[in-house]
Amino acid sequence: MTTFLAPQDIARIVHAHGLPAVLNRLADTIAADFRRWPEFDKVPRVAAHSRLGVIELMPVADSERYSFKYVNGHPGNGAHGLPTVMAFGVLADVATGQPLLLSELTLTTALRTAATSLMAARVLARPGARTMALIGNGAQAEFQALAFHHGLGVRELRLFDVDPAATAKLVRNLRAVPGLVLTVCASTAEAVRGADIVTTITADKRNAVIIEPGMLEPGMHLNAVGGDCPGKTELHRGVLEAASVFVEYEPQTRIEGDLQQMPADFAVTELWRVLTGQASGRQRADEITVFDSVGFALEDFSALRLVQQLAAELGLGVPLALIPTLADPKDLFAQLQPAAQALKAA
Ligand code: NAD
Repeated sequence: MTTFLAPQDIARIVHAHGLPAVLNRLADTIAADFRRWPEFDKVPRVAAHSRLGVIELMPVADSERYSFKYVNGHPGNGAHGLPTVMAFGVLADVATGQPLLLSELTLTTALRTAATSLMAARVLARPGARTMALIGNGAQAEFQALAFHHGLGVRELRLFDVDPAATAKLVRNLRAVPGLVLTVCASTAEAVRGADIVTTITADKRNAVIIEPGMLEPGMHLNAVGGDCPGKTELHRGVLEAASVFVEYEPQTRIEGDLQQMPADFAVTELWRVLTGQASGRQRADEITVFDSVGFALEDFSALRLVQQLAAELGLGVPLALIPTLADPKDLFAQLQPAAQALKAA
């Protein structure tokens, strides 16, 4: 049997453990999997582009488990009452190919993306970073805000979105968080001024320039999350030229990240090499660092394994008869016989 986890199950996990603990567990699980990077079969995700958005499949496997995520990115979806990003995924047994878990991944993507940003910032941001600009205050924003508050000690968030209603929603959701100061800004430039960390998590299907070189300050860490598709970027190329740039999986980020603007020989460092001590993260207090986040399949693999474990501990999830149960594995045809149909109807 395959276990099915719905969004309410993920919400129950978060309520049972608390959001800070779940984000921390996720960041640790993702980091542990990144440290065993060479053990994974990796490929850039497979994308189907349309005028309005993209639908992507993200597979990855080690010798025991295989996972894939289905995810879309449609910045105009709000007009249809749908989120920009929706996702689900499967965790399967490599030895047999049996799907073990079918899970929602819309909420889980927001959690794992924030946890990955946190994991990167722990090795890239200046120690003692306390102020973060958060540009783009949509569906992902609270998760990023709380990951950096609880996981890194960020105390002030400087908020900007072209849609003031999105910022008002973010303020509503976060105003009761103790020790977190929220400052609503009138522009990106105002939000970024004096910030130790700048998170860009906007959705717009074009080569946007959210951050320009003139906005950079010595020692800033940029957590650039919204540029994740060909023709969809957030950083001026001069920002990348001025920074040390870190990526998840280089072959994918060259296609999808802000990095797509740069020549093929522009140097970047894969995060797993920093996490295993084979490369340096931040080296100087005045260095500008960029995490050019696009979202890599391994983060979903880690998240699926963790939610599978946490759900089992809490007795969550329902069995799903996704694959036929056969008395004789070679007699698939028996499933079409009236007896099997009657059984199904019962
Ligand atoms: P969303 O549509 O809910 O929110 C995006 C917000 O960006 C909106 O409120 C919009 O008004 C704002 N925005 C657009 N252009 C802006 C601009 N120029 N300046 C300021 N704000 C602007 O989308 P979401 O679910 O929050 O996702 C945000 C982005 O993150 C998307 O582009 C999505 O593809 C990306 N994403 C990346 C990862 C990853 O792993 N890297 C994971 C999930 C989502």
